[in-house]
Amino acid sequence: MRGRYISGKTKVCGIIGDPVEHTMSPIIQNAAFSDMGLDYLYLPFKVKREELAKAIDGVRALNIRGLNVTIPHKVAIIQFLDELDPLAEKIGAVNTVVNYGGVLRGYNTDATGFMQVLLEKGVEPEGKSVVIIGAGGASRGVSFILAERGANLTILNRTLSKAEECADSVSRIFKKRVKALPLDSENLTKALEKADILVNATSVGMSPNIDETLVASNLLKPALIVVDIVSNPIKTKLLKEAEAAGARAIGGLDMLVWQGALAFEKWTGLKAPVELMRNEVIKVLEGHEN
Ligand code: NAP
Repeated sequence: MRGRYISGKTKVCGIIGDPVEHTMSPIIQNAAFSDMGLDYLYLPFKVKREELAKAIDGVRALNIRGLNVTIPHKVAIIQFLDELDPLAEKIGAVNTVVNYGGVLRGYNTDATGFMQVLLEKGVEPEGKSVVIIGAGGASRGVSFILAERGANLTILNRTLSKAEECADSVSRIFKKRVKALPLDSENLTKALEKADILVNATSVGMSPNIDETLVASNLLKPALIVVDIVSNPIKTKLLKEAEAAGARAIGGLDMLVWQGALAFEKWTGLKAPVELMRNEVIKVLEGHEN
């Protein structure tokens, strides 16, 4: 790394997950620290499911400043933290931890990063009808933040019980009805008839399966805003077909950048160099695509 040195005062951050080899976070975060001239370092830590408790003891013992958390630890980590941001508590998942002098507090910047992207692009979800496909970890964050922001949600998932579970928790917390349906073409067609926004929160379309999409192209209309949270490839098949249909298409790259930028801001207390972080992600993703 050009111009990088480690001092006795270097603050250490990192990402815990398993697998962790493909994460782009070290590249994005170290570029941001370097650009801002901050004495911080960000490392990948492969932590097995059964080693999570020890890893968190290690965070305290080694005075690690902050963490990102990825699969499979986003839910399990909560039991080892001292405090939770109210949104992360509602979602029941944490992707960012800050160590405030031994007190570990968990946040969910996947959700706030997603919302930041919509707002940055001038998309206000309040009162909008939003169809979300997928009911995994990412969908949960997206569903909660959209409900908090006043959107009306329909969640479709291949495994209905997971859509129902997500819809029930959102309904309970925000006191509003959320529809849960099995993901099939009839339900999707019907749900999209009145939708303003469609969010793909499944992993379908992600590299290497870049020719896959769950949404038939004839369902995509110019009035629809299509958000795909898959960030690799930068333009998924769904997004390409949305653009071809005249719909607005928003990809997962910006969410990836913003979840990282918001985590950076929590660790450092400084405004993140978002453009630089975005350019780093693009460099890495375009490298993958070649
Ligand atoms: P997850 O918990 O494993 O959930 C995967 C979801 O995809 C489930 O709803 C699953 O349905 C559905 N799915 C997978 N294959 C399917 C298929 N062939 N047909 C229909 N549905 C299918 O994963 P996650 O953490 O939520 O992540 C989902 C995607 O979001 C991933 O691509 C991830 O990279 C991306 N993501 C992006 C960001 C970002 O910053 N851009 C952040 C987080 C996640 P079942 O429940 O039926 O299995």
